[in-house]
Amino acid sequence: SGNSLNSTKHRQLFTQYIASPEQAVVNVVRKELSKLISGVTDSIQTTRQQFTDSEHNLDQISAAFHPTTSVTDDQDLINLIRNEIKSLEASSDCFKEQLLKASLEIETLKSKMAHYREESLKDPLTQITNRRGFDERLKVAIDDAVNDGSPLCLIMADIDHFKKVNDTHGHLMGDNVIRLVAATIKKSIKGRDLVARIGGEEFAILLPETPYEGAMKLAENLRSEFENFDFLKKKVGDSLGNITLSFGVSIFQPKENADTFINRTDEALYQSKNTGRNKVSGLIPRI
Ligand code: GH3
Ligand code: MG
Ligand code: MG
Repeated sequence: SGNSLNSTKHRQLFTQYIASPEQAVVNVVRKELSKLISGVTDSIQTTRQQFTDSEHNLDQISAAFHPTTSVTDDQDLINLIRNEIKSLEASSDCFKEQLLKASLEIETLKSKMAHYREESLKDPLTQITNRRGFDERLKVAIDDAVNDGSPLCLIMADIDHFKKVNDTHGHLMGDNVIRLVAATIKKSIKGRDLVARIGGEEFAILLPETPYEGAMKLAENLRSEFENFDFLKKKVGDSLGNITLSFGVSIFQPKENADTFINRTDEALYQSKNTGRNKVSGLIPRI
């Protein structure tokens, strides 16, 4: 038909509505979509051929009607017409079925894509949000804060001397510690708050609609929870010794952007690192 999409337009629509940045996912979906489209095209072709055949048959039947034919002959012709109509109905039913099947497949594809997308925003080790998911959510949170003037806070947390944990207890035990830290932070936040693993042993906690004092308090609670937590090796029950975290806290300033907000929070974190670790530091820019 006349409204077929050229490939540029196709690609535009694809990136606008479907493509996630994950090229692998895009390729999988693209392959399945193209299979789907060629299936539908095939059944359009088949149905069209069946309709053309029927048209031809009906033409012949109608040509057979003659002023001279007898009523009994007419009965035969009528039966032929009825059969032709039945076969037309059958091909259109078959076509409808194919379309239904295709639309179901599109639904499956859509939920598959939603699933891939979710996975691509998750950190495989801890199952919490990864850096990319964090960046996306931060953008949304900043937009909301700008629009309604609500306070937005950010905490960054980094495990102290983590290299030593790896060196002393092995990388696998290090992984367990990272998992446990992620789970502990996750359990301490709620609602619209978000915790993300934004580096090897570094976490960000995004706190929409939260005043600065609230964020400082949460960071201090977490700091002391980790300080008092006894990390045990599961099988042997040996303590891993003191595992502490350093924290940086800041509140979003109207008119700033995500980068300056993150950098200031990072700066606060490094204040905690530079003044002895196992600390909470907050930074509010002087006006
Ligand atoms: P600081 O107190 O200054 O933060 O010291 P640190 O040793 O924690 O920091 P540094 O950045 O020097 O080292 C971080 C270490 O974290 C180095 C890296 O091997 C380890 N690490 C990063 N990602 C992972 C991971 O996924 N699993 C494990 N086991 N270790 C990781
Ligand atoms: Mg560290
Ligand atoms: Mg670090």
